[in-house]
Amino acid sequence: MKVIYFDICAIPLFLMILIICHTRRMTKGKANQMFVLVVTVSLISAIADLGMEIPNSMLPMSGTGYFICTLSTYLYLAVRNGNNAILLLFLLMLTRTTSLIRKKWIRFAFWLPYMVLLLLLAQNPFTHRVFTITAETGYARGPLMMAIYAIAMVYGLTGLVYCIYCRRYLPANKWAALLTCYLLAHAAVVIQFFHPELLVEMFCTALGEMLIMLSIMRPEERMDSAVGMLSWASYRSDIRNIALSGEHVRIVVIRLLNCLEIRNFVGDHNYNQYLSEVADRIRAVRWTHRHRIEIYFERPGTIYLITDADESGSEDAGERLLAEVGDLIRGHVKMGVCFEPRVCLIRCPEDLQKAEDVISLGHIFLQIDERKQTVFRASDIVHSRTFAMEAHIEEIFDRALKNHNIKMFYQPILDVQSGRFRSAEALARIIDPEYGLISPAVFIPAAETEGYIIPIGDAVLDQVFRFVSEHDLDALGLSYVEINLSVAQCMERSLPEKISALQKKYGVDPGKINLEITETNFEHISEIMFENVNELIRMGYSFALDDYGTGYSSIQRVIHLPLKLIKIDKSMLEEVSTANGRMILDYTMRMMQSIGKLLVVEGAETVDEVEILRSMNCDYIQGFYFSRPLPEEEFIRFLEEQNKDR
Ligand code: C2E
Ligand code: MG
Ligand code: MG
Repeated sequence: MKVIYFDICAIPLFLMILIICHTRRMTKGKANQMFVLVVTVSLISAIADLGMEIPNSMLPMSGTGYFICTLSTYLYLAVRNGNNAILLLFLLMLTRTTSLIRKKWIRFAFWLPYMVLLLLLAQNPFTHRVFTITAETGYARGPLMMAIYAIAMVYGLTGLVYCIYCRRYLPANKWAALLTCYLLAHAAVVIQFFHPELLVEMFCTALGEMLIMLSIMRPEERMDSAVGMLSWASYRSDIRNIALSGEHVRIVVIRLLNCLEIRNFVGDHNYNQYLSEVADRIRAVRWTHRHRIEIYFERPGTIYLITDADESGSEDAGERLLAEVGDLIRGHVKMGVCFEPRVCLIRCPEDLQKAEDVISLGHIFLQIDERKQTVFRASDIVHSRTFAMEAHIEEIFDRALKNHNIKMFYQPILDVQSGRFRSAEALARIIDPEYGLISPAVFIPAAETEGYIIPIGDAVLDQVFRFVSEHDLDALGLSYVEINLSVAQCMERSLPEKISALQKKYGVDPGKINLEITETNFEHISEIMFENVNELIRMGYSFALDDYGTGYSSIQRVIHLPLKLIKIDKSMLEEVSTANGRMILDYTMRMMQSIGKLLVVEGAETVDEVEILRSMNCDYIQGFYFSRPLPEEEFIRFLEEQNKDR
């Protein structure tokens, strides 16, 4: 008597896996779909197994029983053995190594054993050499059944060997789960071979597939189910595997420039729905004859498309995507708004080979190319110095901090009334052995996002305090030096203590230091920042608001913050040639002066600009007209020269 309870238990397990796949929207993406197919086929196998065993346990069979039993046996043998092949395909897709079976003859060889199996089954009704079923004696194996077992073994063992080979494509825990699943399936076959009455095979398969779903597929990690696209984590792991296998693919990165504005405008729920519709539209287009597109999403608003490179060369899938996907997205309006996409094509491995470079280019392509274009090609970008720098920025930061490559330059600022250079702004540069002088416009934003801004800011503070302590500022005619603070530094709890420690270390008078904070950063003003500013003012430091006129200017902030100086951004000075621009600058300056703020205008490059600013009664002028930022010694020489006879 056969124990059919294992099969019965396997069925709800398969159904559960399918329901989870469906509810977590794991029906999108090649590997996901293949996994769903594996589970569906397993479910059919389990049902077919029951269809065989139940009539077999009630001999002699009725006419219907005989019919069901015969049909189920054919179905079971065809489907169950096909499943081993599908599982292997799933493994190839999961590790993105399908390129291994791209060649026609390999594909033929891959399916050959299965085709032989189907042929064996097809001839069985005439020869009964694989199995026989009679109503009286039930099911019995025939001599060719061994061939069927052998074919099952071919796929099973190939799968096991490939699973071991896959070690480098999967993280250790996922690989261990996959191996466990294969071992479980093989153990079940062995058990059932020696104890045919124990129908454990499908139950063990169900356990194995559950294990794959919980520890390898991990819906919560693999999918961004809110938008129905594969997740950012999946993108990273797929890119790593593509780089490892050397697969030829085309990647199109789509940055949705106004994603945050749209999210704020339509709300989270509608935003997700909008993205989900965009993904469906991309999916719906038949981009190429054969290749499908994997769609990934990185919050808040970057979509990545990966498609196979067309090796026939007739049509480049990437070029077509690049040309059309932007218009497709722009054409999809929701609630009256629409995304503004910027697209970039990366050809792998032609443009880039390393996974980190591909990932990093997706993040930085907009920063690198300053032209206001909407379509980018990695091939135009990857050889630039800026890309190399951005891609290795962490390395550069580590080197800069370790070897003290952060150097301060000083730009003199003219005090209009006295005609002397009474202050200066300290501006950081990295002097890298490989990339030379790197501008803060490049590395400060990167330091902020990569988490290096605090150590870099500390190095800046240390150097400027040292500079102030080493020189007699009064003798040079200098009242104070300005230091730029990043918002992250302003929000650091220990900022006042750090500055107080430097003050003690170098014996610096706080009156000699003015701290600059950027206006846009006030958007995020927090209690800690307020407390820090007030504490530092109490200690004797003064503050300036930098880049006034660029951010979200709020008169409120100017009124309520204890600021000594307002620095007007050079963009306002650039408008001075027009009557309106001049008027705005003039009124802004008068307004600030009337509430007791001192004014610095940045970016004066010509004598005309300097004259206009003088005529407007500007307090301080900073600009290339007087001097560019200078290294320490040159700056001292500049002051000695310029301030000596005034
Ligand atoms: P910022 O604080 O507004 O500094 C003024 C920038 O304008 C400097 O650019 C300066 O070289 C440039 N500049 C001055 N006069 C002229 C001019 O006449 N014409 C033009 N075209 N530019 C002029 P730089 O040194 O490249 O610094 C860029 C920004 O990087 C700074 O803008 C500041 O926000 C940030 N930064 C620089 N050093 C540091 C630092 O030590 N810490 C932090 N947190 N930020 C820094
Ligand atoms: Mg500044
Ligand atoms: Mg500025």
